[in-house]
Amino acid sequence: TTVTRFAPSPTGYLHVGGARTALFSWLHARKHGGRFVLRIEDTDLERSTIESVNAILEGMTWLGLDYDEGPFYQTHRFGEYRAVVDKLLAEDKAYRCYCSRERLEALREEQMANKLKPRYDGHCRHRTDHPEGQPYVVRLRNPQDGVVEFDDLIRGRITISNDELDDLILLRSDGSPTYNLTVVVDDADMGITHVIRGDDHINNTPRQINILRAMGRDTPSYAHVPMILGPDGSRLSKRHGAVSVMQFRDDGYLPEALINYLARLGWSHGDQEIFSLDELIQKFDVTDVNKAASSFNMEKLQWLNQHYIKNDDPARIAHLLSPHIGALGIDPCEGPALIEVVKAMQERAKTLVEMAELSSFFYRDFEDYDETSAKKHLRPVALEPLERVRAALAALPEWTPEAIHGCVAEVSAALELGMGKVAQPLRVAVVGRAASPGIDVTLHLVGREATLRRVDRAIG
Ligand code: GLU
Repeated sequence: TTVTRFAPSPTGYLHVGGARTALFSWLHARKHGGRFVLRIEDTDLERSTIESVNAILEGMTWLGLDYDEGPFYQTHRFGEYRAVVDKLLAEDKAYRCYCSRERLEALREEQMANKLKPRYDGHCRHRTDHPEGQPYVVRLRNPQDGVVEFDDLIRGRITISNDELDDLILLRSDGSPTYNLTVVVDDADMGITHVIRGDDHINNTPRQINILRAMGRDTPSYAHVPMILGPDGSRLSKRHGAVSVMQFRDDGYLPEALINYLARLGWSHGDQEIFSLDELIQKFDVTDVNKAASSFNMEKLQWLNQHYIKNDDPARIAHLLSPHIGALGIDPCEGPALIEVVKAMQERAKTLVEMAELSSFFYRDFEDYDETSAKKHLRPVALEPLERVRAALAALPEWTPEAIHGCVAEVSAALELGMGKVAQPLRVAVVGRAASPGIDVTLHLVGREATLRRVDRAIG
């Protein structure tokens, strides 16, 4: 069976680039009826934090990327790494290196001076003594000839000559395992069949394959996913705006919009843009992922988000909107039912944050008129229509959208004006700007009392 994994280092928030890698791994497992493993690579004790682990787990949950195994923590597996190193030492596939920092530094300087790529010179490779009490690292006895070759599912065949690889450190002098060792041991023990990860790791792959070979284990298939760029062509980072998955939630994006967006970022299926998760599972194929890096396009994400907001169940949108309304200091229980507000506003907002902002007038009086709207619609000519419609609204026997509509229509007819000449001033008076859902629905939700109060304010 297919087994894939996501193996983040918990040194920060869950970045959208990481989330996309996780999504591709998850989709690959789901598509093939396999398993998806979450592994937390927390061996860097200085940079790993519990908060970051929690942020990663929270992000995965929010996106709906469920895992079948894990989370596993590498810090719980030091015994396993140690055992592998001991076995490699016993089989002479690895060796102890006692070279001092000074020697390695001098070697490096000499190589640099001769314009050579700095690499370990194998000084301890054939050493047979084991000086007591002297610190050492354990290095892989990398093959000295031949090549490492693998068929990357995205990038095609990759060949690296062994003489470009030096004897990699597996265990540091303090006994801690290095990244390449832990990844390989875990991938092997966890039965990973497909390593799908960022292409920043592509240079590690031949080294990891050599470790696997030394361990006598099979190599998995590899797929290296290109990175995500910001609009300026550099790697997407904080200075381009939101990059953490949870920031997108806080900015009012729906998880399905972000998933859809990330899936389409560097992968396509004809010219289809909208994909449900089930469709992605059906149609995603990791070999169709682009080799080239893709740029993050906020407008496109917003377009998708708007699509999902528009088409989702209003009750769910109301549930998701509620905290954003709350963030404005509004208690959505005091005022019109949030679900009715959502039904009125569902077509009009690109994000839930925007929807909350555009909806605040349903719950409280706005502060200032939108200047352009006021200039255009709250002029002296609007005074009479506003006064007439106020009186008619105040006298309505019931406050329903139909009655409100009839009322605006009657006043317009009586004044021999188009409906807009009455409805627009009325809208600006009640909403503060010239755009809102239909005047009937809008006033109905705002309520009679607030409507009349705001019209009075406009009449002055
Ligand atoms: N922990 C590594 C990272 O976060 C990923 C290692 C891997 O996927 O092999 O970059």
